[in-house]
Amino acid sequence: MPDFRKDFPILDQQVNGYPLVYFDNAATSQKPKVVIDALNDYYQTINSNIHRGVHHLSQLATARFEEARRAVQQFIHAPHAHEVILTKGTTESINLVASSFCQRFLHAGDEVVVSEMEHHANIVPWQLACERHGATLRVLPFDDRGVLRMEELDSLLNEKTRIVAVNHVSNTLGTINPVAEIIRKAHAKGIPVLVDGAQAAGHLPIDVQALDCDFYCFSGHKMYAPMGVGVLYAKEQWLNEMPPYQGGGEMIKTVTFAHTTYNELPYKFEAGTPSVGDVIGLQTAIEYINSIGLEVIAGREQALLEYATQQLLQIDGLQIVGTAPHKSAIISFNINKLHPFDIGTLIDQMGIAVRTGHHCSMPIMEHFGIPGTLRASFAFYNTEEEIDRLVAAVKKAVMMLS
Ligand code: PMP
Repeated sequence: MPDFRKDFPILDQQVNGYPLVYFDNAATSQKPKVVIDALNDYYQTINSNIHRGVHHLSQLATARFEEARRAVQQFIHAPHAHEVILTKGTTESINLVASSFCQRFLHAGDEVVVSEMEHHANIVPWQLACERHGATLRVLPFDDRGVLRMEELDSLLNEKTRIVAVNHVSNTLGTINPVAEIIRKAHAKGIPVLVDGAQAAGHLPIDVQALDCDFYCFSGHKMYAPMGVGVLYAKEQWLNEMPPYQGGGEMIKTVTFAHTTYNELPYKFEAGTPSVGDVIGLQTAIEYINSIGLEVIAGREQALLEYATQQLLQIDGLQIVGTAPHKSAIISFNINKLHPFDIGTLIDQMGIAVRTGHHCSMPIMEHFGIPGTLRASFAFYNTEEEIDRLVAAVKKAVMMLS
């Protein structure tokens, strides 16, 4: 196994006198040097606004931007590049759909279905849309392992349901959800499905055609790309029927004070200057992932998940929140009644970065009746030795707090 860590300069540092252990990958991944170099390169050589200039740099930047879009298209197996909308991230992608799709298709008395294990980014935009249009938000629950109660889906989906929005992987429980089955069941009733793939991209292969999802959203920064760029994949048919999300430059064909006509796809949904350098960084991240292979990445992360699960369970009183049979490399846990924040603060003193709190999924906390959890989330560059350090640090913190 090659030493992937050397690709990530940030990992080679001391925090509070200890070598950094970075286990907050579900919040954001670290960036390989090739991605950092691509950003540098862009600003040092071709920085320019795109789609507008006849001049040399603008043409180069435009070509690279559109090449990056095609790289994303291939990465998720989208049929067409114009079905790939470049956004700021998952949150913006979901808001775009919740706003535009609902403006056209959601009416008073209609329903939107989400699951009980969504990130707030896949709850609140739908709540806002429901409020705006007089519709109701319905919730597919999960069981105490963190597995969706699929037997309840059929009765939730009815002639009033306009859309289902569900995550591919839960950022808190780690559950890998049966999104293909959800899509099949929803489509059988003519209902479109949005998949929040924020925690799947860069960890699992994504094939939007095999899934047959209507919308797929993810963020670059969780898959080794820069912050500030994300993706909305949407079937052309929906993008043609949806009104624009934001107005501005780039999304128009003609403007008069009396009337505006809109640009073709994907530009109709890309108002204003995009983060060109970050989009090129996203392409570089995809190339980096491909150079290693998603199977290798996924295999390594599953091995870390198994090892960490075994080792953490050796700690007295430790309870894992989220024990689904199919999980991504995310472990939420609590120890007796100790507050996750206290443990998180103490292990930070030992150089270990984990997340504490509700992880933007308060309904999950409510389900279990807890204020929060500690969350260790792994990337393929993490090691078993780092997991040993986490376990030792947590044991020490528990001793100090008990
Ligand atoms: N959905 C899920 C499942 C997430 O984990 C996150 C990020 N924590 C988001 C949506 C929001 O992503 P972003 O903040 O990059 O827009």
